[in-house]
Amino acid sequence: MLVSVVEFRQALHLTPAQESALRQLWTGIRDVQHVLNTYLHHLAAGHSGTLQDAILRAVQSQGVPALPGLPAGQARVPTLTLKALKDEIRAARQQSGWGDALPATAVTWVATEILADWRALGRSQNVQASNLPHAWSADRRAELHLGNGVQPLDEVTLEIAALSPTTDAVVLADVFLLPEPFRAALWHQHAQRLAKEAGRLDAVDRAWLDHGDRDAQREALRLRGRYAAARIMLDGQQLPPAPPKNTPLWQEKTVVRAVPGGGWEVVWSFQVSGQQVRWMHDDTLGLDPGQRNVWAYASANLSGVISRPCGGVWEPPDHGPAGQPLTRPHNERRAQAELRLALYRRMAPAHAQMLALALMHRACAVEDVRWSGFTWRKNNFAQYAVYTGLRASIDWLITLAPLHGVQVLLAPPGHSTATCSRCGRLGSRPRGTTFSCSCGHREPVDINAARNHRQRALAGQGRRP
Ligand SMILES: [Zn+2]
Repeated sequence: MLVSVVEFRQALHLTPAQESALRQLWTGIRDVQHVLNTYLHHLAAGHSGTLQDAILRAVQSQGVPALPGLPAGQARVPTLTLKALKDEIRAARQQSGWGDALPATAVTWVATEILADWRALGRSQNVQASNLPHAWSADRRAELHLGNGVQPLDEVTLEIAALSPTTDAVVLADVFLLPEPFRAALWHQHAQRLAKEAGRLDAVDRAWLDHGDRDAQREALRLRGRYAAARIMLDGQQLPPAPPKNTPLWQEKTVVRAVPGGGWEVVWSFQVSGQQVRWMHDDTLGLDPGQRNVWAYASANLSGVISRPCGGVWEPPDHGPAGQPLTRPHNERRAQAELRLALYRRMAPAHAQMLALALMHRACAVEDVRWSGFTWRKNNFAQYAVYTGLRASIDWLITLAPLHGVQVLLAPPGHSTATCSRCGRLGSRPRGTTFSCSCGHREPVDINAARNHRQRALAGQGRRP
């Protein structure tokens, strides 16, 4: 059976304490990489010894891993297997508590990465010592592979278990930003997990109430505390009905990583099996994202708009005129997240409509929006796109297109609203909602733009995402 993995990412809205705790975890992971790499260098130089010794040497140099100069001349790539390395790590953790604060999945990920780097040199090969893998530099993108240590709690919060020793593990995130079958898969598995935990709670309750088991009582306290913090009642949680066949499977191999330019994001990964519906229209659909119309689209014989399902403002609210008493809501950060959720719920049908339409076409030409760009369009467009889920929906299209055999092309945006899609003449930027040209072409501005994206892609000007 055909199995693919797809990933969706969402921004995390962290407190400063949570952000610094993630940063600290990453520093710990990098230290692990340094120690493992030093150890492999040691073996490559022909020395013997265990990972334990390497850790000891690192500890003796006051926590900073000792990075000796590369062995002179030739070195031999050690024949260590991943399993052997993982066993050594496990032993080291048990004996010396090495990296105790770090989640096992994240440490295993480092071991896998580092061994892949070494293996790329060829097993037991003699190589120039200067070509051996280096320690990760400080500017490497932070990436924490947390497995099932990241769990969604509700539409706007998730729990990162690795944060709990140092700070609040409940993190605000726009968990709702997922296309439909994937969203259902996430919550289905969440419900399954809760039902299992409820069964465990029931068992420990009986163990301490019926048989006086104090350990069971402590476990009952821990379970209640954990879920109460997330406003979840475990008592009475039932197993959900089995999902329909061929629904995506959430893999619980969740990654939390730094976003270039600032902030952090969560990456959910899903397994999709079975053949997905293929495109049926052998044509390229031009797609123009916008504010008045969320989307305008045009192909050879189809054109139209998907208008914004909420007419009023979309901007984040301010706090009213200065001097007005008490306009800040209680728990404002969460209230803001719920406000985004309410807006998204209104927008979601428009995003779903675009996805369904786009995935019916052999190719899609989407305007190549320069999100970090400047004045080519009203400067609040990037903010609008994030706040309404429009930007996420473009990511979804790019992610899902290959499953449906659909090609996505990003078309250069320059003058796409001021160019006539019939004769190609560049006029001035249209003021109203209708585009008109001296050649007689008249049509809604956004549809004319969508036609231009399509034509540019057909002319080979588009780039792959
Ligand atoms: Zn014209």
